[in-house]
Amino acid sequence: MGSKGDNVAVCNMKLERLLSMKGGKGQDSYANNSQAQAMHARSMLHLLEETLDNVHLNSSANPSPFTAVDLGCSSGANTIHIIDFIVKHISKRFDTAEIDPPEFTAFFSDLPNNDFNTLFQLLPPLVSNSCMEECLAADGNRSYFVAGVPGSFYRRLFPARTIDIFHSAFSLHWLSQVPESVTDRRSAAYNRGRVFIHGAGEKIATAYKRQFQADLAEFLRARAAEVKRGGAMFLVCLGRTSVDPTDQGGAGLLFGTHFQDAWDDLVSEGLVAAEKRDGFNIPVYAPSLQDFKEVVEADGSFTIEKLVVYKGGSPLVVSEPDDASEVGRAFASSCRSVAGVLVEAHIGEELSNELFSRVERRATSHAKDVLVNLQFFHIVASLSFT
Ligand code: SAH
Repeated sequence: MGSKGDNVAVCNMKLERLLSMKGGKGQDSYANNSQAQAMHARSMLHLLEETLDNVHLNSSANPSPFTAVDLGCSSGANTIHIIDFIVKHISKRFDTAEIDPPEFTAFFSDLPNNDFNTLFQLLPPLVSNSCMEECLAADGNRSYFVAGVPGSFYRRLFPARTIDIFHSAFSLHWLSQVPESVTDRRSAAYNRGRVFIHGAGEKIATAYKRQFQADLAEFLRARAAEVKRGGAMFLVCLGRTSVDPTDQGGAGLLFGTHFQDAWDDLVSEGLVAAEKRDGFNIPVYAPSLQDFKEVVEADGSFTIEKLVVYKGGSPLVVSEPDDASEVGRAFASSCRSVAGVLVEAHIGEELSNELFSRVERRATSHAKDVLVNLQFFHIVASLSFT
């Protein structure tokens, strides 16, 4: 373990070339650690339905495909369930309106490092055009064309006016980058001693908030060009209920407690230099409703149909809540499935194993607290474009 991970090239590599959730189907993979997100998404389907009911339906005289996009799709099955739901709901609306349904296209979009192969393997087979209608009701089949689109959602991804509905779940809290001042030792916003903003100083929080708002503004600008008139967006991201950005709620507990302490363990054991730890920051910001709203209003392209903070619940799925070691394992796996790739890029796989085994040990010894207090709130935005 000689090297302390002085991998400068990785530090300077742009986040968007690096970030992904853990691919594949192993224990710490996103595919295997996203059941809680699935549950949270399911509990919000009635809100998604409201958004879908607002989307304009083209008449059959103008038969361009109905196009749905999932932004930040990752490599688990959740994105496929959502796209299925959207296609079925919109098809029903065409039926009810007695309009011949168009063909459907779905784009799965994420950063280029996303494990698109695992996602594509999860896709059910496409049914032939002739039986699309009957098959819409049948599970295990797909009644829409698909493509993967690699790229950052903070920039343009699609041609102008081609998309009917944008969906994005649990992704927009990822910043395009760690704000530069946070890792600059000469800056007043240098995040000394910490790997996240939870519990950090005000200047650090302000830098993160600015980054979030600048990123969201870019996101809206790009989508406003791509969405068709009459189209809509349904956006869900981690949010917080506190006005104070240094209290990051569930995200704060995930990255600011046992994960933070585990980094400190590595430093005090001499496995990682303090500066190396300080150079690592989780590029996540859980906004308040106000943080989010200010940007949508300032951009002005979209009408806010609904903007709420929604209680999603725990991000952990455990079968034996009294089994502290299962809770600790679930916490560590959940943390690793989303942050593991970044940690490994910063300190290598071996030290990353050391880190997450400490995360697990610490979470195990606080299992009750983890189960009760680790709760996620989400910002849910339904936006329309006229
Ligand atoms: N929507 C999925 C996955 C959420 S995980 C679900 O509901 O389960 C968050 C995803 O957002 C990750 O796959 C991550 O790579 C992606 N992401 C983060 N920043 C991004 C960006 N700038 N552009 C596109 N995708 C991004």
